[in-house]
Amino acid sequence: MILDLFFPNRCIHCSRIIDAELLVCSLCFEQIHFTHFDYSGDHIIKEKCKLMFPVENTYALMKFEQDGLSQKIIHELKYKSRENAGNTLAEWTTERLDLKDKKPDLLVSVPLHPKKLKERGYNQLHLFTEALSKFYDIPFDHEIIQRNHYSKAQALKDKKNRLETVNPFSLSKPISGKHILLIDDVFTTGNTVSSIAWEILNAGDNRVSILVMAVDV
Ligand SMILES: [Zn+2]
Repeated sequence: MILDLFFPNRCIHCSRIIDAELLVCSLCFEQIHFTHFDYSGDHIIKEKCKLMFPVENTYALMKFEQDGLSQKIIHELKYKSRENAGNTLAEWTTERLDLKDKKPDLLVSVPLHPKKLKERGYNQLHLFTEALSKFYDIPFDHEIIQRNHYSKAQALKDKKNRLETVNPFSLSKPISGKHILLIDDVFTTGNTVSSIAWEILNAGDNRVSILVMAVDV
């Protein structure tokens, strides 16, 4: 493209000029800390999840480093101009993650908060999820998990009445007998995936596995 001559694509880390479809140069790529987690094995994410909900398999592509390369990569996803970062991350994932006989039935990603969705105009996890769906030949559903609209007035009322905390997520349709792979960008406390996992588990005879781009623990 002629545009490339004027606005060449640059490595997000060191600014070297690189091919249009790449995110980082080959030297910076070597610096990415991939976890090499075993999908069905025990590691930090699985241990953390197990304390919160019954989990099948877990995987994280990278170790999250504050102010490091993995943070930059995930940050890039949030900009429309770097939307293809989702494809790159999916490619890195499929090169490393063999689902073998642990293949889930459905891929779902954590929905963005409506305010953030309005600001950005798109959910950065969708492209990533769709690329994984294509590679592994597993359907995805972007609509099934919904964030509950929860007004301040309601929250205040609940606090006053000391009602049980309402789950911030709900399912838009019934689902049962499925093994669902829940996808998020960064795993920290695990609270978000746990909230969604419980909605899925309580909905019927379902199982939940977790896949994240980076783990920050
Ligand atoms: Zn570089």
